[in-house]
Amino acid sequence: MALALTRRLSLLFVGALQIPLILACLPVNAASALAAWALGSDGVLLLRTSRGARLEAFFQSADSGKGARVWIDFPGELSRTRTLRGSGPVRAIRLGKPTPGSTRLVIEFEPSVDLDPAQLKLVGTSPERWKLSFEGLPTRGLRRIGEGDLSSSPSSRWPPGVSITPTRTPISASGLPEVPRGRYKVVIDPGHGGPDPGAIGIRGLREKDVVLDISLQVAQLLEARGVQVIMTRSADIDVDLPPRVARANRIGATAFVSIHANAISMYRQEVNGIETFYFSDARSARLASHIQRQVLNVSPGSPNRGVKRGRFFVIRRTNMPSSLVETGFVTGRLDSPRLASSAHRRKLALAIATGILNYLQGVR
Ligand SMILES: [Zn+2]
Repeated sequence: MALALTRRLSLLFVGALQIPLILACLPVNAASALAAWALGSDGVLLLRTSRGARLEAFFQSADSGKGARVWIDFPGELSRTRTLRGSGPVRAIRLGKPTPGSTRLVIEFEPSVDLDPAQLKLVGTSPERWKLSFEGLPTRGLRRIGEGDLSSSPSSRWPPGVSITPTRTPISASGLPEVPRGRYKVVIDPGHGGPDPGAIGIRGLREKDVVLDISLQVAQLLEARGVQVIMTRSADIDVDLPPRVARANRIGATAFVSIHANAISMYRQEVNGIETFYFSDARSARLASHIQRQVLNVSPGSPNRGVKRGRFFVIRRTNMPSSLVETGFVTGRLDSPRLASSAHRRKLALAIATGILNYLQGVR
């Protein structure tokens, strides 16, 4: 069976704890799995590892005069520990062996650098290549630093993924809750898009495709109920997070709903489930609960991972009630085939629209 792997996990960060950003798989062998690395002047870290290496990435916020640190652990022992001086926002890069038989790459930032770990994702871009964009990093003065040859063999590609194109068949809103027509504006935010595929799951299922199809149908349903819908993207294009939020704030939307699919390692197919995030206020929590309840209804057997507080940019910076729903794991044995099915995506759209309409019914 052709499997494309994802090796990313977006993480909620609380306090100054060390939190694993990612878990993937691993042959334990003597030589370091880290073959080459480079941090570019654009604030993007690229890694080349041995094929299928299992990495773990961690974030620690700035404390007692020390800047924030991000480190990545690799299997296999580093031959020589060393420290390289950084530039601009990066104080130093260290290569060490925290335990025998392991390798650690540490990036230490200057104390003034403020990073949001919720925006940090280590993404496997091929079976041997990884990418971590330091979103929001002030790159002024940052010069490229790296070691080794990052190019990998042309055979090192993911197998072609299952492709999903938006459903064209109209979807009926009959049976959905009614709200006063023309009163509400809702922003629907399909996660990722364009060069950013979001999570990549079993059989190469791509989050950006899954969530766009669901989102377009949610929009149709809400519009059929007289709700004005603004989509942050309605095609496979890349839109940065700040403009998504700015637009919602500018038009004074009633609610903002970001639609995503979750991922953990391809080697953790037992992890499935539905979760919905909100940032802090009671109205956002209510919106999230309405959506979570409905999505669970159409996802039998998929665990309820709960309604949770999260610090994702789009729900933190919007100034109207907002939530972010994770409609299942593209890496999950149960969720992934469902997310790949157009019938299930239709059910998810009906569920999310119902949750939003239920919420709007309580808005005066
Ligand atoms: Zn996502």
